[in-house]
Amino acid sequence: MTMLELPDYGIVGFRADNPGPFTLGGTNSWVVGRDPAWVVDPGPALDAHVSALAAEIERRGGLGGIAVTHHHADHADAVPVLRQRFPAARLAAARGEVDIRLEDGDTFGPLEALATPGHSPDHLAFLAGEAALTGDAVLGHGSVFISPDPGALSAYLAALRELRRRAPAVLCPGHGPPVRDVAAKLDEYIAHRLERERRLVAALDGGRRSVDELLDEAWSDAPAALRPAAAVTLAAHLDKLEEEGRLPTGVERPPRGW
Ligand SMILES: [Zn+2]
Repeated sequence: MTMLELPDYGIVGFRADNPGPFTLGGTNSWVVGRDPAWVVDPGPALDAHVSALAAEIERRGGLGGIAVTHHHADHADAVPVLRQRFPAARLAAARGEVDIRLEDGDTFGPLEALATPGHSPDHLAFLAGEAALTGDAVLGHGSVFISPDPGALSAYLAALRELRRRAPAVLCPGHGPPVRDVAAKLDEYIAHRLERERRLVAALDGGRRSVDELLDEAWSDAPAALRPAAAVTLAAHLDKLEEEGRLPTGVERPPRGW
């Protein structure tokens, strides 16, 4: 259990003990404000993790609500157990069985929802004062995989630019350490996607058409464990090129259904 303390912002993070190729050192759950506190992403349903969260919530005078950035298990599995412990807390997310469905611009307690599609189609980030809780839209290190839905990659780039425009002072990501050099991190994310696209277009221009060839050339740096995720992101990049009328014919598309 690692604590990520941001006293200047009234925020504390708890990193769950669920490390892995997609979770980096583990999933971060964030506790915001006090009297009552609000939780962003309760995380995995691990006893030690939930107990640490609950103790912090008690110290902060109870729980006003639980906000979920997206419905991947490592972010949302602890929702039922946390609700059992704090039955008065409301649950909010972009979809699912929730008390409040959030759309871009909606507020939930101290949180303002910011639509950040890409990693999942209904992913939300949350602005809380000068902080932004970014789930898997922006991580503390490394890059995210983009789920291929129509328009996903262009919407993701637009969301990154909007987040940059809002200029939070710190990013509290779903994985990895807090990010204080916000503009540089967001610029790096945008540049990273555009660099992938540049490499992909170069591979296509060089006559590559199969998924394996395209991954070999444009994702040569991806470790083997992340190659399936790279294929998913490749699909999103191919969608974007197709939307823009830039996709040559005869390109093999990665299978759908991640
Ligand atoms: Zn995650």
